[in-house]
Amino acid sequence: MFLTVTTTHLPATDLGFLLHKNPARVNTFDVFGGVAHVFYPEATAERCTVALLLEIDPIDLVRRRGRGSRTPAAGGVDHYVNDRPYAATSLLSVALGKAFASARSGRSTDRPELAAQAIPLEATIAALPSEGGKDLVHRLFEPLGYTVDVASELLDSSFPAWGLSRYHRTTLRGTLRLADLLTHLTVLIPALDGEKHYWVGDAEVDKLLQRAGEWLGTHPERELIVRRYLRDQRGLTREALRRLTEEDDIDPEARVNRGDALEAGLERPLNLNQQRLQAVVETIRQAGASTVADLGCGEGHLIELLLADPRFTRILGVDVSVRALERAARKLHLNSLAPRQRERLSLVHGSLTYRDERLTGWDAAVAVEVIEHLDLDRLEAFSASVLGHARPSTVVVTTPNAEYNQLFPTLGPRRTRHPDHRFEWTRSEFHAWAESAASRFGYSVSFRPIGDADDRLGPPTQMAVFQR
Ligand code: SAH
Repeated sequence: MFLTVTTTHLPATDLGFLLHKNPARVNTFDVFGGVAHVFYPEATAERCTVALLLEIDPIDLVRRRGRGSRTPAAGGVDHYVNDRPYAATSLLSVALGKAFASARSGRSTDRPELAAQAIPLEATIAALPSEGGKDLVHRLFEPLGYTVDVASELLDSSFPAWGLSRYHRTTLRGTLRLADLLTHLTVLIPALDGEKHYWVGDAEVDKLLQRAGEWLGTHPERELIVRRYLRDQRGLTREALRRLTEEDDIDPEARVNRGDALEAGLERPLNLNQQRLQAVVETIRQAGASTVADLGCGEGHLIELLLADPRFTRILGVDVSVRALERAARKLHLNSLAPRQRERLSLVHGSLTYRDERLTGWDAAVAVEVIEHLDLDRLEAFSASVLGHARPSTVVVTTPNAEYNQLFPTLGPRRTRHPDHRFEWTRSEFHAWAESAASRFGYSVSFRPIGDADDRLGPPTQMAVFQR
């Protein structure tokens, strides 16, 4: 059983610090069912690869499995000749936890900043079992932002009639934190395999939520992942899904939906949403843009207006939330649009805090009520990706004006309009951020009010227009 993880983040050998394993050494330790080795097949400043090799003793496994189980298991685990020595299974998942415990929890003694940073990573799993075929591997990993390559081999090249193997050589590529990659593998490998080498009990639900609470709640295949991870135990599956979709602290999406309703309720009397969207469309019309990227498009309110105006020949909607994109596709009737209309629009999943080639080449980009949903320490990454890398001629950014909040009768002091807002800025705070970002990336910036302005406190929404 063989897994490699490669980075090209410079200097690549820092991977050793992240994993707390010296690239010059081979580490060998006991794991359930056998022995694990961690070593580095390549370790240069440009490219560094760590390998986890697991030697499983199938006979020992069958003996340990004991008398308890009566149902035949996947991969022939009940037999001395079984697939466990080479397939990526829950045994690999447990060994990953043992080999890279601190890296998986995002801790690094020597490189704490690097552990928190998204870096280019590539993981190759030599034989990933998937009863659902290649398609299931794509469905599980792609929503997490990976580019996925799955190769299926013939079971035996001398006997093509036997068909394809259920084991797939799989490569995942992405730009993400190492801890996130390790957690995704820990959860999704056992979900793909049909078998777990240990008894699944209540504690498994806690472990699953602790590892995957942040991303599983919004994963389009969450039900399948939870069910298979918990080995089809209905009671546990129901409990895990309930906790994933109900608890605010582990399901940011639920909090966002509830917050959307709150914010809309506050702003509705001002008809602010409509005014905001009109002001943005008017601004990009004046700028002469014909191709537009809507960054953080949500359910596609702005896209609806853009589609209605034929001068916008190409429109891109990007959002980090798969559910928001699904809702946008439904609202915009994506599947039943006439082919000419359909060709104008792409909806893609992505985060604005990472450089993304798909964001380059647009006349204008807009981020309507998005920046306040980003952590302050990720704003720098947003500016670098949008103004520094994508570099459209016009960028429009809107955000609440915090000074105005005291005019909302139902909003208490020091509260934000939406519980997911990480900050709300005064006019001078917004101006300071925008001016500094503009000068760093070679743009000029001007500001426009949106909504009826109060003499003293200014408008409810503020807009910055960057141009170059
Ligand atoms: N622009 C839309 C939605 C605003 S709500 C409108 O005006 O209706 C903010 C949106 O930003 C949400 O849909 C959220 O999923 C998205 N978002 C938050 N962080 C993001 C990130 N890092 N990358 C891309 N989208 C993000």
